[in-house]
Amino acid sequence: SDSHFPVPISPSHVDYSLHFPHYFPSVKNDDKNNAKVFFPKASSKKIQFADIGCGFGGLLVDLSTLFPETLMIGMEIRDKVTEYVKERVLALREGNPGQYQNISVVRTNSMKYIPNYFEKGQLSKMFFLFPDPHFKEKNHRRRVISPQLLDEYAYTLEVGGIIYTITDVEELGEWMKNCLEGHPLFEAIGEEELNADPVVKLLSSATEEGKKVARNEGQTFLAVARRIASSVET
Ligand code: SAM
Repeated sequence: SDSHFPVPISPSHVDYSLHFPHYFPSVKNDDKNNAKVFFPKASSKKIQFADIGCGFGGLLVDLSTLFPETLMIGMEIRDKVTEYVKERVLALREGNPGQYQNISVVRTNSMKYIPNYFEKGQLSKMFFLFPDPHFKEKNHRRRVISPQLLDEYAYTLEVGGIIYTITDVEELGEWMKNCLEGHPLFEAIGEEELNADPVVKLLSSATEEGKKVARNEGQTFLAVARRIASSVET
């Protein structure tokens, strides 16, 4: 349950030095005789991409080298899976000095705690790749894309930011597309722009779920939308 993982009380309480030590060296000075105290200038970098329900982290790994200066985080509710991603990132950092410093993972329930991690307009990309379908009508409220949760995602995304969704479940694909098209703060992104976006290709090719679907020659359903300004924001 939720009591097993810590939740930051606000985005400014997220400890970046744990996730991105290359950018945010932690200051530990327990040498009492050492007169010279070194306080590294805190980086102003913030997390800009979030992979919600990141699973085993395949997308993050591929995005890391595509956007080497962008900080990104995976959010995953399963403890063992989160630990796996942590180990995976550490191993990549060790094996490739200087690389993979911009990706990390946190164990959390994204349906509850996104506002604890990100400020208004902080994110430029959010990913919801192959989320659990929750087929039964009474479980639709557990879907990670819903009109209510889109309000929260719209708050978290900057104007112009992009939300990417993909699934192999046609019914869920329709649902996510309808939710996005029906929301006043999102507009669908057209085919031409999607084809030109290198990130779109990764949605199936980089994720563990996407690879599985491709192996089985399954169909996928994509819905990608841009955060637009509200009349109040313009
Ligand atoms: N996105 C990955 C991929 O495409 O390979 C994983 C897809 S997997 C089917 C869905 C993932 O979402 C699971 O790893 C699950 O544990 C995670 N998940 C489900 N509900 C979640 C929640 N409320 N918060 C965070 N992660 C969640």
